Amino acid sequence: MKILLAEHRGFCYGVERAVAMARGCADRPGKAATLGPIIHNPQLVARLAAEGVGTVDNLDDIKGDTVIIRSHGAPPETYRQAAAKNLTVVDATCPHVRKAQTAARDLREKGYRVAVVGERGHPEVNSIVAWAGDGTVVIETEEEAAGLPAVPRLGIVSQTTFPPGRFDGIVDILKTGAADIQVNKTICTATEQRQQAAVDLAARVDVMVVVGGRGSANTTRLAQLCQEAGSRVYHIETAAELDPEWFRGAEAAGITAGASTPEWVIEEVYRKMQEFDQAMEQEIRQIEKGSIVKGKVVRVSDDEVFV
Ligand code: SF4
Repeated sequence: MKILLAEHRGFCYGVERAVAMARGCADRPGKAATLGPIIHNPQLVARLAAEGVGTVDNLDDIKGDTVIIRSHGAPPETYRQAAAKNLTVVDATCPHVRKAQTAARDLREKGYRVAVVGERGHPEVNSIVAWAGDGTVVIETEEEAAGLPAVPRLGIVSQTTFPPGRFDGIVDILKTGAADIQVNKTICTATEQRQQAAVDLAARVDVMVVVGGRGSANTTRLAQLCQEAGSRVYHIETAAELDPEWFRGAEAAGITAGASTPEWVIEEVYRKMQEFDQAMEQEIRQIEKGSIVKGKVVRVSDDEVFV
Protein backbone atom coordinates (compact mmCIF):
# COMPACT_ATOMS: atom_id res chain seq x y z
CA MET A 1 0.00 0.00 0.00
CA LYS A 2 1.31 3.41 -0.92
CA ILE A 3 1.00 5.99 1.87
CA LEU A 4 0.86 9.51 0.54
CA LEU A 5 0.94 12.78 2.45
CA ALA A 6 -1.01 15.82 1.24
CA GLU A 7 1.32 18.46 -0.16
CA HIS A 8 -0.12 21.09 2.21
CA ARG A 9 -1.16 19.85 5.63
CA GLY A 10 -0.96 20.58 9.33
CA PHE A 11 0.18 23.72 11.12
CA CYS A 12 -0.41 26.95 9.25
CA TYR A 13 1.37 30.24 9.78
CA GLY A 14 -1.30 31.60 12.17
CA VAL A 15 -1.29 28.51 14.39
CA GLU A 16 2.51 28.30 14.50
CA ARG A 17 2.62 31.94 15.51
CA ALA A 18 -0.04 31.50 18.22
CA VAL A 19 1.66 28.42 19.68
CA ALA A 20 5.04 30.16 19.68
CA MET A 21 3.51 33.16 21.48
CA ALA A 22 1.91 30.90 24.09
CA ARG A 23 5.16 28.97 24.55
CA GLY A 24 6.92 32.30 25.03
CA CYS A 25 4.85 32.69 28.23
CA ALA A 26 5.94 29.33 29.63
CA ASP A 27 9.05 30.84 31.23
CA ARG A 28 6.72 32.07 34.02
CA PRO A 29 4.60 28.95 34.67
CA GLY A 30 1.11 29.69 36.00
CA LYS A 31 1.30 33.38 35.23
CA ALA A 32 -0.34 33.27 31.79
CA ALA A 33 -3.38 31.44 30.48
CA THR A 34 -5.11 31.27 27.12
CA LEU A 35 -8.72 32.40 26.89
CA GLY A 36 -10.22 29.25 25.42
CA PRO A 37 -7.96 26.60 23.87
CA ILE A 38 -5.17 28.33 21.91
CA ILE A 39 -6.02 26.10 18.93
CA HIS A 40 -8.49 23.24 18.44
CA ASN A 41 -6.06 20.44 19.18
CA PRO A 42 -6.42 18.72 22.57
CA GLN A 43 -2.97 17.05 22.41
CA LEU A 44 -1.16 20.36 21.96
CA VAL A 45 -3.34 22.11 24.55
CA ALA A 46 -2.39 19.36 27.05
CA ARG A 47 1.32 19.82 26.26
CA LEU A 48 1.07 23.56 26.81
CA ALA A 49 -0.72 23.01 30.12
CA ALA A 50 2.11 20.69 31.19
CA GLU A 51 4.55 23.50 30.31
CA GLY A 52 2.66 25.88 32.63
CA VAL A 53 0.30 27.67 30.22
CA GLY A 54 -3.24 26.58 31.02
CA THR A 55 -6.62 27.45 29.55
CA VAL A 56 -9.45 29.41 31.16
CA ASP A 57 -12.99 29.97 29.94
CA ASN A 58 -13.29 33.54 31.16
CA LEU A 59 -11.10 36.34 32.42
CA ASP A 60 -12.32 35.97 36.01
CA ASP A 61 -10.58 32.57 36.18
CA ILE A 62 -7.11 33.95 35.43
CA LYS A 63 -4.84 33.43 38.43
CA GLY A 64 -1.76 35.14 36.96
CA ASP A 65 -1.33 38.50 35.26
CA THR A 66 -1.42 37.66 31.55
CA VAL A 67 -4.12 36.57 29.13
CA ILE A 68 -3.29 35.07 25.75
CA ILE A 69 -5.86 35.70 23.01
CA ARG A 70 -6.04 32.66 20.78
CA SER A 71 -5.66 32.50 17.00
CA HIS A 72 -9.45 32.75 16.52
CA GLY A 73 -9.46 36.22 18.02
CA ALA A 74 -11.75 37.75 20.64
CA PRO A 75 -14.50 40.40 20.78
CA PRO A 76 -13.50 44.04 21.50
CA GLU A 77 -15.20 43.70 24.87
CA THR A 78 -12.60 41.12 25.94
CA TYR A 79 -9.79 43.65 25.43
CA ARG A 80 -11.73 46.25 27.46
CA GLN A 81 -12.31 43.79 30.30
CA ALA A 82 -8.66 42.68 30.30
CA ALA A 83 -7.55 46.33 30.56
CA ALA A 84 -10.00 46.90 33.43
CA LYS A 85 -8.47 43.93 35.26
CA ASN A 86 -4.94 45.21 34.60
CA LEU A 87 -4.02 42.09 32.68
CA THR A 88 -1.24 42.01 30.11
CA VAL A 89 -2.65 40.90 26.76
CA VAL A 90 -0.59 38.65 24.50
CA ASP A 91 -2.60 38.86 21.31
CA ALA A 92 -2.16 35.73 19.17
CA THR A 93 -5.10 36.55 16.90
CA CYS A 94 -4.09 35.34 13.44
CA PRO A 95 -3.47 38.33 11.15
CA HIS A 96 -5.94 36.82 8.64
CA VAL A 97 -8.63 36.72 11.31
CA ARG A 98 -7.77 40.28 12.29
CA LYS A 99 -8.26 41.29 8.66
CA ALA A 100 -11.75 39.75 8.66
CA GLN A 101 -12.60 41.47 11.96
CA THR A 102 -11.53 44.91 10.76
CA ALA A 103 -13.23 44.44 7.38
CA ALA A 104 -16.48 43.63 9.19
CA ARG A 105 -16.12 46.62 11.51
CA ASP A 106 -15.33 48.99 8.61
CA LEU A 107 -18.35 47.82 6.63
CA ARG A 108 -20.60 48.42 9.60
CA GLU A 109 -19.13 51.90 10.12
CA LYS A 110 -19.86 52.68 6.46
CA GLY A 111 -23.51 51.80 7.00
CA TYR A 112 -23.65 48.30 5.56
CA ARG A 113 -25.53 45.47 7.17
CA VAL A 114 -22.84 42.84 7.71
CA ALA A 115 -23.22 39.17 6.81
CA VAL A 116 -20.50 36.77 7.99
CA VAL A 117 -20.39 33.64 5.85
CA GLY A 118 -19.19 30.92 8.19
CA GLU A 119 -19.99 28.34 10.80
CA ARG A 120 -22.44 29.65 13.38
CA GLY A 121 -21.04 29.43 16.92
CA HIS A 122 -17.40 28.96 15.86
CA PRO A 123 -15.14 31.15 18.05
CA GLU A 124 -13.63 32.94 15.05
CA VAL A 125 -17.08 33.72 13.61
CA ASN A 126 -18.22 34.91 17.05
CA SER A 127 -15.25 37.26 17.21
CA ILE A 128 -15.91 38.69 13.72
CA VAL A 129 -19.59 39.20 14.57
CA ALA A 130 -18.64 41.01 17.76
CA TRP A 131 -16.33 43.37 15.83
CA ALA A 132 -19.12 44.10 13.33
CA GLY A 133 -21.63 44.88 16.07
CA ASP A 134 -25.41 44.64 16.40
CA GLY A 135 -27.51 43.51 13.47
CA THR A 136 -24.78 41.29 11.98
CA VAL A 137 -26.02 38.00 10.58
CA VAL A 138 -24.24 34.69 10.11
CA ILE A 139 -24.92 32.79 6.90
CA GLU A 140 -23.93 29.15 6.85
CA THR A 141 -25.83 27.70 3.89
CA GLU A 142 -27.31 28.56 0.50
CA GLU A 143 -30.80 28.17 2.03
CA GLU A 144 -30.03 30.76 4.68
CA ALA A 145 -28.69 33.12 2.02
CA ALA A 146 -31.89 32.73 0.01
CA GLY A 147 -33.99 33.41 3.12
CA LEU A 148 -32.17 36.63 4.14
CA PRO A 149 -34.57 39.59 3.86
CA ALA A 150 -33.45 42.12 1.24
CA VAL A 151 -31.47 45.15 2.51
CA PRO A 152 -30.28 48.17 0.52
CA ARG A 153 -26.61 47.80 1.54
CA LEU A 154 -25.01 44.48 2.39
CA GLY A 155 -21.36 43.92 3.37
CA ILE A 156 -20.03 40.36 3.31
CA VAL A 157 -16.98 38.84 4.98
CA SER A 158 -16.06 35.18 5.34
CA GLN A 159 -14.73 32.95 8.05
CA THR A 160 -11.08 32.41 7.13
CA THR A 161 -11.49 28.64 6.82
CA PHE A 162 -14.71 28.58 4.78
CA PRO A 163 -14.52 26.53 1.52
CA PRO A 164 -13.99 29.09 -1.28
CA GLY A 165 -16.42 27.42 -3.71
CA ARG A 166 -19.24 27.41 -1.18
CA PHE A 167 -18.53 31.02 -0.30
CA ASP A 168 -18.86 32.02 -3.98
CA GLY A 169 -22.18 30.15 -4.27
CA ILE A 170 -23.59 31.87 -1.19
CA VAL A 171 -22.44 35.30 -2.40
CA ASP A 172 -24.16 34.73 -5.78
CA ILE A 173 -27.44 34.21 -3.93
CA LEU A 174 -26.94 37.19 -1.61
CA LYS A 175 -26.16 39.43 -4.60
CA THR A 176 -29.74 39.12 -5.80
CA GLY A 177 -31.10 40.74 -2.62
CA ALA A 178 -29.14 44.01 -2.28
CA ALA A 179 -28.64 47.04 -4.51
CA ASP A 180 -25.24 47.87 -3.02
CA ILE A 181 -23.11 44.93 -2.06
CA GLN A 182 -19.49 44.80 -0.84
CA VAL A 183 -17.74 41.43 -0.78
CA ASN A 184 -14.61 40.71 1.26
CA LYS A 185 -13.43 37.17 0.62
CA THR A 186 -11.38 36.89 3.78
CA ILE A 187 -10.46 33.23 3.30
CA CYS A 188 -6.80 32.62 4.07
CA THR A 189 -4.36 31.06 1.60
CA ALA A 190 -3.39 28.30 4.02
CA THR A 191 -7.00 27.10 4.07
CA GLU A 192 -7.32 27.13 0.29
CA GLN A 193 -4.02 25.25 -0.12
CA ARG A 194 -4.92 22.59 2.45
CA GLN A 195 -8.40 22.05 1.02
CA GLN A 196 -7.15 21.80 -2.58
CA ALA A 197 -4.29 19.45 -1.65
CA ALA A 198 -6.70 17.23 0.33
CA VAL A 199 -9.20 17.02 -2.54
CA ASP A 200 -6.42 16.25 -5.07
CA LEU A 201 -5.04 13.48 -2.87
CA ALA A 202 -8.47 12.03 -2.00
CA ALA A 203 -9.15 11.54 -5.71
CA ARG A 204 -6.00 9.37 -6.04
CA VAL A 205 -6.35 7.02 -3.05
CA ASP A 206 -8.77 4.42 -1.68
CA VAL A 207 -8.72 5.67 1.90
CA MET A 208 -8.07 9.12 3.39
CA VAL A 209 -7.05 9.65 6.99
CA VAL A 210 -7.76 13.18 8.17
CA VAL A 211 -5.89 14.04 11.35
CA GLY A 212 -6.98 16.77 13.72
CA GLY A 213 -9.12 17.80 16.67
CA ARG A 214 -12.78 16.85 16.49
CA GLY A 215 -13.58 20.41 17.51
CA SER A 216 -11.49 21.82 14.66
CA ALA A 217 -13.74 23.30 11.97
CA ASN A 218 -11.05 23.31 9.31
CA THR A 219 -10.18 19.63 9.95
CA THR A 220 -13.85 18.63 9.79
CA ARG A 221 -14.14 20.51 6.48
CA LEU A 222 -11.14 18.68 5.09
CA ALA A 223 -12.89 15.40 5.93
CA GLN A 224 -16.13 16.55 4.25
CA LEU A 225 -14.29 17.66 1.11
CA CYS A 226 -12.36 14.36 0.89
CA GLN A 227 -15.65 12.48 1.19
CA GLU A 228 -17.15 14.60 -1.58
CA ALA A 229 -14.08 13.76 -3.71
CA GLY A 230 -15.13 10.11 -3.48
CA SER A 231 -12.73 8.73 -0.92
CA ARG A 232 -13.45 6.61 2.16
CA VAL A 233 -12.56 8.96 5.01
CA TYR A 234 -11.59 8.50 8.65
CA HIS A 235 -11.23 11.58 10.88
CA ILE A 236 -8.95 10.81 13.82
CA GLU A 237 -7.21 12.84 16.50
CA THR A 238 -4.29 10.50 17.18
CA ALA A 239 -2.59 7.37 15.83
CA ALA A 240 -4.15 5.33 18.65
CA GLU A 241 -7.51 5.48 16.83
CA LEU A 242 -6.22 3.86 13.63
CA ASP A 243 -7.65 0.46 12.75
CA PRO A 244 -5.73 -1.86 10.40
CA GLU A 245 -9.01 -3.12 8.92
CA TRP A 246 -9.56 0.30 7.29
CA PHE A 247 -6.65 -0.40 4.94
CA ARG A 248 -7.28 -4.03 4.03
CA GLY A 249 -7.21 -4.33 0.26
CA ALA A 250 -6.31 -0.66 -0.25
CA GLU A 251 -3.63 0.08 -2.83
CA ALA A 252 -3.10 3.66 -1.70
CA ALA A 253 -3.94 5.63 1.41
CA GLY A 254 -3.62 9.37 1.94
CA ILE A 255 -3.00 11.48 5.01
CA THR A 256 -3.93 15.09 5.50
CA ALA A 257 -4.27 17.20 8.62
CA GLY A 258 -6.01 20.34 9.76
CA ALA A 259 -4.21 23.62 10.28
CA SER A 260 -4.13 23.00 14.03
CA THR A 261 -2.53 19.53 13.89
CA PRO A 262 1.10 19.38 15.07
CA GLU A 263 3.62 17.59 12.82
CA TRP A 264 4.50 15.06 15.56
CA VAL A 265 0.88 13.83 15.60
CA ILE A 266 0.97 13.43 11.78
CA GLU A 267 4.30 11.57 11.98
CA GLU A 268 2.88 9.12 14.54
CA VAL A 269 -0.07 8.41 12.22
CA TYR A 270 2.28 7.89 9.25
CA ARG A 271 4.52 5.49 11.21
CA LYS A 272 1.57 3.46 12.50
CA MET A 273 0.12 3.11 8.99
CA GLN A 274 3.52 1.90 7.78
CA GLU A 275 3.52 -0.71 10.57
CA PHE A 276 0.04 -1.88 9.52
CA ASP A 277 1.22 -2.12 5.94
CA GLN A 278 4.29 -4.17 6.87
CA ALA A 279 2.18 -6.49 9.03
CA MET A 280 -0.31 -6.94 6.19
CA GLU A 281 2.44 -7.71 3.70
CA GLN A 282 3.85 -10.32 6.04
CA GLU A 283 0.40 -11.86 6.43
CA ILE A 284 0.00 -11.97 2.66
CA ARG A 285 3.40 -13.62 2.21
CA GLN A 286 2.45 -16.31 4.69
CA ILE A 287 -0.91 -16.86 2.99
CA GLU A 288 0.90 -17.15 -0.33
CA LYS A 289 2.92 -19.96 1.14
CA GLY A 290 -0.45 -21.69 1.62
CA SER A 291 0.26 -22.04 5.28
CA ILE A 292 -2.22 -20.25 7.52
CA VAL A 293 -5.42 -21.62 8.90
CA LYS A 294 -6.48 -19.44 11.81
CA GLY A 295 -6.37 -21.16 15.18
CA LYS A 296 -4.83 -24.40 13.92
CA VAL A 297 -1.33 -25.71 13.68
CA VAL A 298 -0.52 -26.21 10.04
CA ARG A 299 2.47 -28.00 8.61
CA VAL A 300 3.85 -26.08 5.66
CA SER A 301 6.94 -28.06 5.00
CA ASP A 302 9.05 -30.41 6.99
CA ASP A 303 10.85 -27.64 8.81
CA GLU A 304 8.22 -24.82 9.00
CA VAL A 305 5.26 -24.87 11.36
CA PHE A 306 2.90 -21.90 11.91
CA VAL A 307 0.33 -21.54 14.66
FE1 SF4 B 1 -4.69 32.01 10.29
FE2 SF4 B 1 -5.48 30.72 8.14
FE3 SF4 B 1 -4.17 29.46 10.02
FE4 SF4 B 1 -6.66 30.24 10.50
S1 SF4 B 1 -6.01 28.71 8.98
S2 SF4 B 1 -4.94 30.46 11.88
S3 SF4 B 1 -6.70 32.14 9.38
S4 SF4 B 1 -3.36 31.11 8.75
